[in-house]
Amino acid sequence: MVSLADVMQQAYEKYKGKHGGKNASYIPYLAQVPSELTGIAFVSVDGEVTAFGDSSYHFAIESISKVITLALAIEESGSEAVHSKIGADPTGLPFNSVLALEMHNGKPLTPLVNAGAIATVSLIKADDKEQRWQKILDCQSRFTNSATQLSDEVNQSEQTTNTHNQAISLLLKSAGNMYSDPLEACDVYTRQCSTLINCVELATMGATLANGGFNPCSKQTVIHSKNVPHILADMMMEGLYERSGDWAYDVGVPGKSGVGGGLVAVIPNVGALATFSPPLDPAGNSVKGQLMIKHICRSMGWNMFNTQIEQ
Ligand code: GLN
Repeated sequence: MVSLADVMQQAYEKYKGKHGGKNASYIPYLAQVPSELTGIAFVSVDGEVTAFGDSSYHFAIESISKVITLALAIEESGSEAVHSKIGADPTGLPFNSVLALEMHNGKPLTPLVNAGAIATVSLIKADDKEQRWQKILDCQSRFTNSATQLSDEVNQSEQTTNTHNQAISLLLKSAGNMYSDPLEACDVYTRQCSTLINCVELATMGATLANGGFNPCSKQTVIHSKNVPHILADMMMEGLYERSGDWAYDVGVPGKSGVGGGLVAVIPNVGALATFSPPLDPAGNSVKGQLMIKHICRSMGWNMFNTQIEQ
């Protein structure tokens, strides 16, 4: 059988020069990240790392942070409380949709779009906003096995252009679905999107989920194994926004994208693939990242819906 490293290299070589998609531009910082950067990493549930290309380049985590804050909220409040307040259904609409909120009386449908993610931030138990932020940042570090840092440059760029997310926060508040001050929650949400991560750290985060919440690199339990299936289900339903169904159909493993160009795919009990390439499709998912991960998952027979014994 062909080795994973060979398949990863094939995918990298095949797609690294491919054009298509555009950097996110509504956040000024993201528009000027070099579009040609391309990285890929895999971390196994044993902590083995395989990486190609720009896999150590640090990029903005953006929406992938939503998964980590969701995990923290479930750890603190339990899966039922989080489900009843934040939901677990796909919206079928863009990640910053106000319509999705309006259609459901101001109740978020999923923690993996902006409305649900900001409400999830507001659920994190803390005395004040700084403590809430610190808890989220620490949780990012535990998942990635690195001292995750806020980028002041990314944060500044987002904080000065996030009026749409502020509006979503106020709408949530008006519908009774905010659990801390709405603009403070939006500020912390914006910070959580503005930390930097590389492909190896992102794959480590994914491998922690693939491995029942136990980080195979730090050898620390990050979350309880009973909470992992809820998080992976949310990723399967909404991890690539209104393209999540296409992703499930084509690839068949839970994924999560961010407009910084990151994409992580979790292969339960095996490990996780993480890619970085800034140009995005219209839904906000990395074009090359999707192609590379699809190529590798198909070649390796990684699809949660497979029913064959032999691939
Ligand atoms: N910070 C970004 C936003 O709120 C994250 C969006 C994303 O990655 N899809 O718009």
